[in-house]
Amino acid sequence: MNLHEYQGKDLFRAAGIPVPPGEVARTVDEAAASGERLGLPLVVKAQVLIGGRGKAGGVKVVRSVEELRREAGRILGLDIRGHQVRKVLITPASDIEKEYYAGIVLDRKYETPLLMVSPAGGVDIEEVARETPEKILRLHLDQRGLPAYRARAAASFLDPRPAVRRQLATVLLKLARVYHEHDCSLAEINPLVVTPKGEVLALDAKVVIDDNALDRHPDLAALRDLGAEDPGEVEAREKSLSYVRLDGSIGCVVNGAGLAMATMDLIHYHGGRAANFLDIGGSSNPEKVTAAMSLLTRDARVRAVLFNIFGGITRCDDVARGLLTALDRIGTKLPIVIRLTGTNEKEARDLLSARGMTALSDMDEAVRAVIARAAEAA
Ligand code: GDP
Ligand code: MN
Repeated sequence: MNLHEYQGKDLFRAAGIPVPPGEVARTVDEAAASGERLGLPLVVKAQVLIGGRGKAGGVKVVRSVEELRREAGRILGLDIRGHQVRKVLITPASDIEKEYYAGIVLDRKYETPLLMVSPAGGVDIEEVARETPEKILRLHLDQRGLPAYRARAAASFLDPRPAVRRQLATVLLKLARVYHEHDCSLAEINPLVVTPKGEVLALDAKVVIDDNALDRHPDLAALRDLGAEDPGEVEAREKSLSYVRLDGSIGCVVNGAGLAMATMDLIHYHGGRAANFLDIGGSSNPEKVTAAMSLLTRDARVRAVLFNIFGGITRCDDVARGLLTALDRIGTKLPIVIRLTGTNEKEARDLLSARGMTALSDMDEAVRAVIARAAEAA
């Protein structure tokens, strides 16, 4: 679960990381009222669950009340790569001498958290990694977390001045605590700035909580902002479907995560692009199939749908029934390619053929067919 910047900053603040004050506003009038309380100059910042807001015009320093109202209005009307801005953070502008990067991310390959720091902050860390990798220091954390001596080493990599270094080391230790205590998969400060007075401040916060840990953090689970998340993913979670939106054109309905991955691989292998990962799970619940279909048919990028069902515990006839129910309920002109094999395959084929539909049994053939249908429909 991604947190908004202001929510991440609340966690940072509670952990003792120095963060400028701020208020969330939903309207221009609210923004102006916050501005009056906080004092100029201010920064107006789009609160959306996606990075790179600065480049998209979603972060703006303002020096007058008129400018504050104008920029708050403009940013509240922005759409940042599919994320509509509904809230802005109003926060006093800090003077910046240096912008650093500090982040802790779960390194799945090494099965440990990884601390990364860079003196080249403020820009995309991916860009720094590509162009000047020597400007990133990487430290894997182990069971001890981040020991103080390693925090000091990381801080020295960022800034040679003793007073600044000490503050940076403290921030890194607190960041590690935030990461650990809230079961994060990412806790990032970019930029972590030094002001001309030598004060260290976290000017941004990007925090991702591991969804699997939310059960033990009801306070964090309550921070979920359904209005800002992808509506398809919200609905899928409610219906217990594993759904991840991607940017291709072929909708996939598959039972089992492994088969879903294999299906996506095969689509890519044959030159197609999947619009989603969708696992309807091992059960044979027609409701899930209906929910899956209604998700896909509402996605304007989907040009064709592939059902790929390997019947085991999942019964093919149940999936067929779910699909037919879904078509009765929502009706769609989308081409649908069905591949099914396994438990109750014959019953499924009979059900489908009674409605003029056929099912393939070969996965490769089905994938090539759906790619062709998507290309025709494009
Ligand atoms: P992001 O683009 O989504 O990562 O948003 P950030 O919060 O990181 O802001 C982008 C950039 O705006 C930063 O790297 C800074 O250069 C600038 N910025 C953000 N806050 C302030 C501030 O308080 N004062 C000044 N002068 N610049 C700021
Ligand atoms: Mn940032």
